[in-house]
Amino acid sequence: MAIGLDQKLAATTLRIAGVANESIVDGPGIRDTIFFQGCPHACPGCHNPETWETGGGNEISILDLLSLLIINPLVTGVTFSGGEPFLQASAAAALGGIFKEKGLDLWVYTGFTWEDLLVNTEKPGFKELLKIADVIVDGPFRKELKDNSIKFIGSSNQRLINVKISLETGRIVQWLPT
Ligand code: SF4
Repeated sequence: MAIGLDQKLAATTLRIAGVANESIVDGPGIRDTIFFQGCPHACPGCHNPETWETGGGNEISILDLLSLLIINPLVTGVTFSGGEPFLQASAAAALGGIFKEKGLDLWVYTGFTWEDLLVNTEKPGFKELLKIADVIVDGPFRKELKDNSIKFIGSSNQRLINVKISLETGRIVQWLPT
């Protein structure tokens, strides 16, 4: 993904578990998914336990990470998954801002609930990442509530939250496919 970046932003690093190009399971359309490294939630039945260790995965600069993303005009969005993107909220918000500037929509999966996020907006980067996300998929995976019938979630406690409208109205408004 060729893009002009200022040097400080380009050198900002994140710790990631990996990248999936052209995913069709992490949100609508064709997307690039970035799996963040480090997760404190330890959900029983988690499909990605290798992402839990905060020192695991690979540290990578934003510039190098962008080079891993395929330039495909069919990609309409980017998804941050995990691991827990909010553990690296400041860097994730900086990265997300680049995608938003390019007109891509941004989905963020988090093991925190929406309510958790709203009471922690003073934590570094939380407010910024919340504000640029189009959709937050919230809550831990709960294996007793595993549900394959709803697209884009793993268990029925998780919600697809339309961030902009939810913040504007002060109540949770679910994202609906257009
Ligand atoms: S929040 Fe996600 S990555 Fe973290 S333990 Fe739960 S299911 Fe796994």
